[in-house]
Amino acid sequence: MQDIQPLFPTLDASKPIIIAGPCSAETEEQVLTTARELAANGIKIFRAGIWKPRTHPGGFEGVGEAGLPWLKKVKEETGMMVSTEVATRQHVEQALAAGVDMLWIGARTSANPFAMQEIADALAAAGADVPVLVKNPVNPDLELWIGAMQRIYNAGIRRIGAIHRGFSAYGKHLYRNLPQWRIPIELRRRFPKLQVFCDPSHIGGKRELIASISQQALDMSFSGLIIESHCDPDCAWSDKAQQITPEVLNFILHTLVLRDKSTSTESLALLRQQIDRIDDELLELLDKRMRVACEIGQYKKEHSMPVIQAGRYNDLMERRVHSAEELGMSADFMRAILAAIHEESVRKQIEIVNGHPLGK
Ligand code: PEP
Ligand code: MN
Repeated sequence: MQDIQPLFPTLDASKPIIIAGPCSAETEEQVLTTARELAANGIKIFRAGIWKPRTHPGGFEGVGEAGLPWLKKVKEETGMMVSTEVATRQHVEQALAAGVDMLWIGARTSANPFAMQEIADALAAAGADVPVLVKNPVNPDLELWIGAMQRIYNAGIRRIGAIHRGFSAYGKHLYRNLPQWRIPIELRRRFPKLQVFCDPSHIGGKRELIASISQQALDMSFSGLIIESHCDPDCAWSDKAQQITPEVLNFILHTLVLRDKSTSTESLALLRQQIDRIDDELLELLDKRMRVACEIGQYKKEHSMPVIQAGRYNDLMERRVHSAEELGMSADFMRAILAAIHEESVRKQIEIVNGHPLGK
């Protein structure tokens, strides 16, 4: 995916791109009322789900094809670009025929390679040249997410974007879908030209969380936000707890702080130099620690001792975690670091005790 192109070359690239609109298109009036209010507030890209993937049968599964002329009206009347979710070949064909400007692929669909291939084939067959946004799969699997985008890329689409909408987890949580920011951050590291959006509506699942999740995304230099907005959220036919009126959306967008990416100050450069030095020191210390661990391995070999002594490991872990907490670091963070270091030491010691690398 080397040749990914900007999604909307005509929009100001220095500002986050905002996509907004209802979870679902319900009626022509609801779609147009919402769209008019959003357009009046300067929103340029409209979203509305026409085909809705629902967890249980019998829920509102979207108005289907009947909603496409409503999107056309939004386009003609407000000048906004319009977008909708596609999950099958037929959705792609119908959306393209109706002049939909951008397609997105939902989290349940991007988790399914057969469905992704079907969509990609439909795009290729139509010779489509529309931007396509791919939401992360419901499970935190970066390769699956990348694979979904590669299929779209191989179909000839070059304007591809990604949407981080969080990952589902069992049980009760603050978030509806847990954000695991390091996954989209790693995605961006691997594909620097890929524009990554955040969907605070589906991450939070509640109106109250939209502003703070959006701010976090902007602080991490996401390219934009896709936010669910409905003219009458309390009466929405789907996802009502997380939808906000265009007015509230406008208020939130004005409270968000845009950090200036272009001013890389001198003091920031100095701080970064410090980080580089500290990382070098950390590497040297880790190397020293590994060497001592190897000497211990040698000792254990000579004295026919087992490599792992559970009591020692638990004791070491608890003491370090306690010290870390006293320094203001989180216990989970320290446990993760110590577990990784310990795992590598054990691997090396087993190599020494066995006299050959593991698995050979
Ligand atoms: C949606 O955007 O309305 C939607 C169904 O999202 P997701 O695929 O993220 O659940
Ligand atoms: Mn929704």
